[in-house]
Amino acid sequence: MLDDELCSPPNLYIDGKWVHAAGGGTREIVNPADGSVLATIDEADRADAVGAVAAARAAFDTGGWPRTPVAERIGYLLRIAELLDAERDAMARIETLDTGKTLRESHIDIDDVIAVFRYYANLASTQADRLVDTGDPAVISRVVREPVGVCALIAPWNYPLLQMSWKIAPALAAGCTMVAKPSEVTPLSTIALVKLIDRAGVPPGVVNLIQSSGATVGSALTDTPDVDLISFTGGAQTGATIARTAAPHITRVALELGGKNPHIIFPDADFDSAVDAVLTGAFLHSGQVCSAGTRLIVHDTIADRFVAELARRAQRIRFGPGLDPASETGPLVSEQHRDKVEAYVALGISEGARLVTGGERPADPVLRAGSFYPPTIFDDCRRWMRLVQEETFGPILTVERFGTEAQALALGNDTAYGLAAGVRTADAALGERMVRALRHGTVWLNDFGYYTPAAEWGGFGRSGTGRELGPSGLAEYQETKHIWHNTAPTVGGWFADNDN
Ligand code: NDP
Repeated sequence: MLDDELCSPPNLYIDGKWVHAAGGGTREIVNPADGSVLATIDEADRADAVGAVAAARAAFDTGGWPRTPVAERIGYLLRIAELLDAERDAMARIETLDTGKTLRESHIDIDDVIAVFRYYANLASTQADRLVDTGDPAVISRVVREPVGVCALIAPWNYPLLQMSWKIAPALAAGCTMVAKPSEVTPLSTIALVKLIDRAGVPPGVVNLIQSSGATVGSALTDTPDVDLISFTGGAQTGATIARTAAPHITRVALELGGKNPHIIFPDADFDSAVDAVLTGAFLHSGQVCSAGTRLIVHDTIADRFVAELARRAQRIRFGPGLDPASETGPLVSEQHRDKVEAYVALGISEGARLVTGGERPADPVLRAGSFYPPTIFDDCRRWMRLVQEETFGPILTVERFGTEAQALALGNDTAYGLAAGVRTADAALGERMVRALRHGTVWLNDFGYYTPAAEWGGFGRSGTGRELGPSGLAEYQETKHIWHNTAPTVGGWFADNDN
């Protein structure tokens, strides 16, 4: 049982008050490492969500936040970063218990979250109006940025705190008000974050928090004219549903969706670092990463040796509870999710892919209590297989082989998604040709998986619309307004005041 003041009930935060769900609903949050109940939290129903949107609407329309000087808003962002720093270990523990990821990963997440709050504080301080030369010295023409309004921020379960912070930090910096809805599976770190936002003194109604399933509260956040922007990170199907629901209101929608990310290895790439990068790219956080490199595309001449070494290394990955310092990766997020991953393993076999390693639940009785699944590699995969084309969101790596640069590129772009891709080669000119030709939002050359708050993150194709992080991540939360000020008005004379 997790007994931490940072996520203790009441857990809904509406108009600056911590409240229980109006209908008395609760939900048990389960530790995926052993199936135990971590916490029982408040579960919102539709009425709570409607109340949260109303609070955000009122705070935007009549509260001070959108009109607060940017320097003051920056102060709040920096204060939140400081509070996160002070609670770094507690936050990491909460994230590990809730998601299953290792404590090392959770600490990296928290540090990235702190960096994101600091980055947007800094970026907001550098934004200036743009003066436009109209050719008329009497006219002052300015392009200014204003907050977009009330935002619904909807996040997934794999990086709950990180994904939500990529939304909350720029939304606060821009002067928006918001309703945050974390995944029903992993809400605890978002509750803790909002406790810190409350401690930082952010005014009531600016940040509101509800926990519940998308099915229960989704429409209150997306099918309403009271929300100006929906920023969603999650699966492509849910993203499409949200875009359809929001369309009649012409609500802005920013979608960060899934990926099926190729990792292309040319024969001249450094062998050991390439194996290491493929292993990490595919199996970190048990593959529950939108940008996981789960599609290995490797040159014919090195493929056998490469796959054999990968399999050897994959079998040596230590998985176990995230709090155990010996664990290198944790469980899948839930039993239901493990069932889904297992169904993909069965599908791969039925499609004719060759199972090289993994593919069976661990025998260890301690691990059997949690939703663990071993790193699994399939060789002899073909581009038409569903296993190759669909996001499994688990520790499954598929292997395809290529002979020429053109074949590698064709395979790398043969996806409906377009979130991320990796290329490894010692040939700088080849590397440059590949990174420019790959149709993905992030492309790594001789690296994999890294990002920085200052560079945009997002996808081509079915991986979404819009960008998070970087200057574009702030622009998502801003409207652009052109102000034309004539300092010496004269009669225009278009209509001649005719005597008809
Ligand atoms: P889902 O699409 O199932 O859910 C995402 C969020 O949407 C959850 O909070 C969910 O609530 C909510 N939701 C579900 N239905 C609705 C609805 N009708 N209206 C409003 N909200 C709704 O994704 P997962 O949580 O399973 O996350 C995994 C997915 O996220 C993967 O596809 C992954 O690739 C993607 N992802 C993308 C990232 C990126 O940067 N591009 C980063 C991380 C993940 P609830 O679950 O509580 O019902």
